[in-house]
Amino acid sequence: MDARRVGGGRIGATRRALPLPMRITNGLAMVSLVLSSFDLLRLCSDRGRPLRFPLGGRELATVVCQLASVVYLLSLFAHSDAPATSGDDDEGGPAADAEPAPMHGAGMEGGDEEIVAAVVSGALPSHRLESRLGDCRRAARLRREALRRVTGRGVEGLPFEGMDYQAILGQCCEMPVGYVQLPVGVAGPLILDGREYHVPLATTEGCLVASVNRGCRAIAASGGAISVLLRDAMSRAPAVKLPSAKRAAELKAFVEAPANFELLASVFNRFIFPITIQLIACLGSVMVPMATFLPFCIFAVYSSRTYRAKCSRFGRLQDIHCALAGRNLYMRFTCITGDAMGMNMVSKGVENVLGYLRNDFPDMDIISISGNYCSDKKPTAVNWIEGRGKSVVCEATIKRDVVQKVLKTTTEKLVELNIIKNLAGSAVAGALGGFNAHASNIVTALFIATGQDPAQNVESSQCITMLETVNDGDDLHISVTMPSIEVGTIGGGTCLASQAACLNLLGVKGSIHDLPGANAQRLATIVAGSVLAGELSLLAALAAGQLVKSHMEYNRSSKDITKAAS
Ligand code: ADP
Repeated sequence: MDARRVGGGRIGATRRALPLPMRITNGLAMVSLVLSSFDLLRLCSDRGRPLRFPLGGRELATVVCQLASVVYLLSLFAHSDAPATSGDDDEGGPAADAEPAPMHGAGMEGGDEEIVAAVVSGALPSHRLESRLGDCRRAARLRREALRRVTGRGVEGLPFEGMDYQAILGQCCEMPVGYVQLPVGVAGPLILDGREYHVPLATTEGCLVASVNRGCRAIAASGGAISVLLRDAMSRAPAVKLPSAKRAAELKAFVEAPANFELLASVFNRFIFPITIQLIACLGSVMVPMATFLPFCIFAVYSSRTYRAKCSRFGRLQDIHCALAGRNLYMRFTCITGDAMGMNMVSKGVENVLGYLRNDFPDMDIISISGNYCSDKKPTAVNWIEGRGKSVVCEATIKRDVVQKVLKTTTEKLVELNIIKNLAGSAVAGALGGFNAHASNIVTALFIATGQDPAQNVESSQCITMLETVNDGDDLHISVTMPSIEVGTIGGGTCLASQAACLNLLGVKGSIHDLPGANAQRLATIVAGSVLAGELSLLAALAAGQLVKSHMEYNRSSKDITKAAS
């Protein structure tokens, strides 16, 4: 989706961060501006008390109050033409008209029948049901009924009860009519870094959980696996156009200059502006005359909240790396994002920097907040080489007798198979980060179970699996190297009850108060550890020639499918 078309996304995000609608905050700023202007005019026309420097306490306070209002209002206008954030991601960013409308407390008049008829006739757009009814569950139920009437097909098999429709509003899914059931199996215990994990996997592929479980058993019998987190940085790369390649190169040099990093990082994190605003607000609250005191206080609180919505307590810029294509410049910003997967966070910071760069490069045309050099949900070399999200290596040494007894094969056969299949075979196929047997199987099943964005399995599954004999050829060393695991334990689908339960099972739900980012990092290592188990087991099945046999046993229904529910 072209992020430029996503009008209102940033403003929407800001609005959602406020307890009151944005227009009330703006109204308060206006009131503050008008009252302080009035006060200034009165002071100027007071002949008995001429206005002169240095200003007295009251005059200064009024000026400060007015300045704060003006800065606030100008900042709103300054962003009106900035590109809107693409929201969560490249392909799924919310469109302006998809943004949830505010709920009207009173709700819409009329019975169910009347409302369904209005939706069917098109008089009431389906996507407005939640805001018009003020009841998400009822909105979903009536939409479902309208769908049945419009299509003439029932959706009885699609469950309705058991979903918290309020929880998904504005966060997970628009225009819901139900949810899809997926079985969740558990593999383990996976012994990883001295801890035990029971790994939830949501899948409909028979054999997968059993296979990972067998891999976990082999790892546990050999003393467990060890993981190393190499890097933690989410990326976003806007595309900008300049009048010439020379000018684009000048911008590249400016952005990449080490001397400018601190400045750009402070703009990215918005350290300066909110602090300034809050200082002015505090000063104003203490000194402003009684007539403007109350609106100013309220305005001060909301303005600082507004700016907080534009920055993040957790997002911190780490690096900017640029690439040119003619006069187009792609700036890949990478940032640490605490326990959130981080796409929203990094997009907000990038928007701040783009706004700032426009001062020095007014000829810079912002094409899109995402220029695909990020790279989100696409198989790319940049993620494979530079990493995106968490970069993890996980290893284990499997004892020879475990290879024989649990995996039913030999160390030599496994090593040879890995070279011919995962390394040479993938090279022949021209793979991009696909030097593995089935990493995406495990990544996707874990992602769905724990509320991650399943589309990010594309880069999160990039993995090279290495096998060697060690200890004089006795034992097997196996490792998986995964540079782009994109996970979070906060935000997105992690808030839903079943996904939160799976995170809880792994002991990584939410965040640890004093250790922001620790849970998300641990989840990334669990993903890598589970992939290690899956790789070990599938390679063993292939080496022993058991793959087809076990799939016939677990993956092919012997039930009479003609009797299955239609
Ligand atoms: P994402 O950036 O992954 O799309 P969100 O936009 O939902 O996710 O951002 C996560 C939100 O959760 C932010 O508003 C952030 O301030 C908040 N948050 C609270 N605790 C944490 C934490 N430990 N790590 C990251 N974000 C956190």
